Amino acid sequence: MSSPKKITIVVPFLNEKENLPVLLERVSAVFAGRAEDWELLLVDDGSTDGSAEWAVEQSKQNRHVRVLRLSRNFGHQLAITAGLDRADGDAVVVMDADLQDPPETIPALIDKWREGHDVVYAIRRSRAGETWTKKFLAASFYRVFRRLAKVNVPMDAGDFRLVDRCVVDALKEIRELHRFMRGLTCWVGFRQAAVEYDRAARLAGETKYPVWKSARLAFDAITSFSASPLRWIAVLGLLVCAVAVLWVLYVMALAVVRPESLEKGWASLIAVMVFLGGVQLLSIGMLGQYVSRIFEEGKRRPLYLVRLDTKAGNAG
Ligand code: UDP
Ligand code: MG
Repeated sequence: MSSPKKITIVVPFLNEKENLPVLLERVSAVFAGRAEDWELLLVDDGSTDGSAEWAVEQSKQNRHVRVLRLSRNFGHQLAITAGLDRADGDAVVVMDADLQDPPETIPALIDKWREGHDVVYAIRRSRAGETWTKKFLAASFYRVFRRLAKVNVPMDAGDFRLVDRCVVDALKEIRELHRFMRGLTCWVGFRQAAVEYDRAARLAGETKYPVWKSARLAFDAITSFSASPLRWIAVLGLLVCAVAVLWVLYVMALAVVRPESLEKGWASLIAVMVFLGGVQLLSIGMLGQYVSRIFEEGKRRPLYLVRLDTKAGNAG
């Protein structure tokens, strides 16, 4: 409690000219009366509307503002990663630049962190200004993802969250390219907690997440956390083989009871076709299992993460 702590607020942005000044103003107001030192780390993800230049200008005048400009647009998830890699605070808050995540929620996140939690999610109590379809697709995605990935990602948590230094260090060890940060901050473990907030509508500008980008993120999320779809192919292959075997038994029974119905030969043809289809699916599924293992190894995720080693000092 006593020692002054530093909070870094990582904000990835792409063309958010109208929003950045308001963001800076509101974050400054939030920290005005607080003991913590803070830094707003603005990560420019290839903006072309002058917002990056504005941010750089601010960083020259304001010691609380730091700007990291990526060389081009790398996408939201990698911009967050770049920010986390460079943030030096004792805790790091990740939030959007469009003020859908209200900066006024940050004190609640810090309080939970001070209570001893390492990951504090901001959970959306409500979502203003978002279409019914987007909410429905988001809810369906989280259901599917949690089942497949076996990672308990909280429903309705975006990227708005606070993570302790020990979690930032853990995340730095994860270097896979196709990444889903919400899943990874959950995957690393440590002590996790949640705080509720009302998600506002975007202050200005257009969403940078059209449906196809959201779909790509969902696909990245599922394929980077789960090889189940490959396993399903093998299961489907087995089922088809079983159907073929049943069919053969049926045809053999027919041959005994009503041999005249089998003269045209189609029954045996179908049996062979279905069986071969099943064998092919099964083979693809088996291949898939090896591919998925190459994939798992290729990600080179840390095998485990240590929270405490009593003889070597606290890992956190
Ligand atoms: N963003 C980014 N790079 C991108 C797309 C988006 O840094 O390629 C930023 C964007 O400026 C915003 C945040 O990611 O700060 C979330 O994007 P947005 O608000 O457009 O998504 P939505 O809230 O509509 O899902
Ligand atoms: Mg937004």
